[in-house]
Amino acid sequence: MNNLLNKIINDTKIYANQGEVATYIPELSKMNKNISGIVVVDMENNIYSAGDTNIKFTIQSMSNIVTLILALMDHGEKVFDKVGKEPSGDPFNSLKRLTNINTHKPFNPMINAGSITITSMVKANNKEERIERIIKLIKDLSGNKDIEINMDVYNSELKTGDKNRSIAYFLKDKNILEGEVCDVLDTYFKQCSIEINCFDLANIGATLANDGISTISGKRIVPSEYATIAKAFMFTCGMYDDSGEFAVEVGIPAKSGVSGGIFCSVPNKMGIGVLGPSLDKKGNSIVGIEMLKILTNEKKLCIFN
Ligand code: GLU
Repeated sequence: MNNLLNKIINDTKIYANQGEVATYIPELSKMNKNISGIVVVDMENNIYSAGDTNIKFTIQSMSNIVTLILALMDHGEKVFDKVGKEPSGDPFNSLKRLTNINTHKPFNPMINAGSITITSMVKANNKEERIERIIKLIKDLSGNKDIEINMDVYNSELKTGDKNRSIAYFLKDKNILEGEVCDVLDTYFKQCSIEINCFDLANIGATLANDGISTISGKRIVPSEYATIAKAFMFTCGMYDDSGEFAVEVGIPAKSGVSGGIFCSVPNKMGIGVLGPSLDKKGNSIVGIEMLKILTNEKKLCIFN
């Protein structure tokens, strides 16, 4: 496996030229678009890796899976009274459908409107407790006790997050988002700014692939039914408005973030974490997708095989 991963890193580096790092959050523009890494963790906790796997980057909307799990643990499927289950087919930060339809319900928990609503549903007495719960679950899912927020990225999001503010105030006006908008957004910006590396992503994916049980500690982290729901949303909505294309070309549950990370959960087989900060027009890592195409093809990982 390590040989295959090294070959994948070398064969896909060239694709970085075809995209750009995210710049709308200025701090993200500092990432080097030519780095790339890949980690695989199987159900026996064997770890395989290649490339720039120790580089830290922010989790961005890959955190939406974590908050979805917490909201499900807090409210059960009542979560879906507020947020739908359908792919939107629109860019992740679009206001279009939100303002067009009668119910104004966000289409799914992976787009910004849905994920900001989900963040507001994570039970806590105050915003400090809410972000602590999110960080705690990321620590448990990844088995990494040193997870922290990157305050430079957080401040950068805070300065430039007006699109998210407009989404949140609109949702508050429609009685979908509860609580103080400022507090909810503060948590949302912080959760997106949590630092992880490819190992953390692969471990999160492995825990979900293993029915919610950590392959590191052997402890149940996520109830089985919510691990299943998380993988379903990863599959249908995890790769922005390219999720259908990714389902056909790669065929595994995956969630992407604008930092260039993608984590995947191949049921009962493995978790995969990849990094490649050069993004395509939809916001997905170009190198990351090419790496996953080769790996899934070589190892016959498509869930419909
Ligand atoms: N913090 C980013 C935003 O809200 C997350 C985007 C993403 O990774 O999809 O715009």
